[in-house]
Order: sequence, then structure tokens, then C-alpha cells
Amino acid sequence: MTLTSKCPVCERHMFTREFELCPICEWQQDNIQEDDYSLAGGLNKLSVNQYKLQWETQQAKQDLIQMAIKYPSDRVVLDRIKNVLSSLELRVVHN
Ligand SMILES: [Zn+2]
Repeated sequence: MTLTSKCPVCERHMFTREFELCPICEWQQDNIQEDDYSLAGGLNKLSVNQYKLQWETQQAKQDLIQMAIKYPSDRVVLDRIKNVLSSLELRVVHN
């Protein structure tokens, strides 16, 4: 079966086949989970909402790490990055 639906997690990939694995965020296409973003435990262990939060947090962390690499001697920037990283951890744990 062919389909065209946007990856609900990263929104950057168009699925063209059922059960296709997104090459960007590794979400697996699942029609049932796409109908209900809060449904966990289909082809993907996490729901779209949970996986999306995890993925976006991961992206944000990578951006911050890149920034830390770019400004390694700027204490103010590094301290801010450290604070944001730890609040991202809390956001994931408490969700
Ligand atoms: Zn994706």
C-alpha cells in the first residue's frame, strides 16, 4: 500500500510506505498511532507525543552542545547551556 503522510514526530520526512522507518528521527510509520498521538505501544513503544518530546529534547541538547563547542571559553554561555540542559532532563523525567 502506498501512502503519503508526514512523519508526525520530526515533520521533515514524507512516508511513502506503510511501516516505513523515518530516516531522520527513526519513528516507524503506524496508522493507528497517527490517528491517536497519545497511544503508546503500537509499532513504536512510545506514543507520538512521548516520542516527539524525547526527540525534540534530543535535538535541543545537540544544538546546545554545538554551541558549547563553538564558545568553549565563554563561561557565561557555558553556564547557561548547563542550566538549560539540566532543565531539559527534568522536563523529560517529569513528563
Ligand atoms: Zn521523523
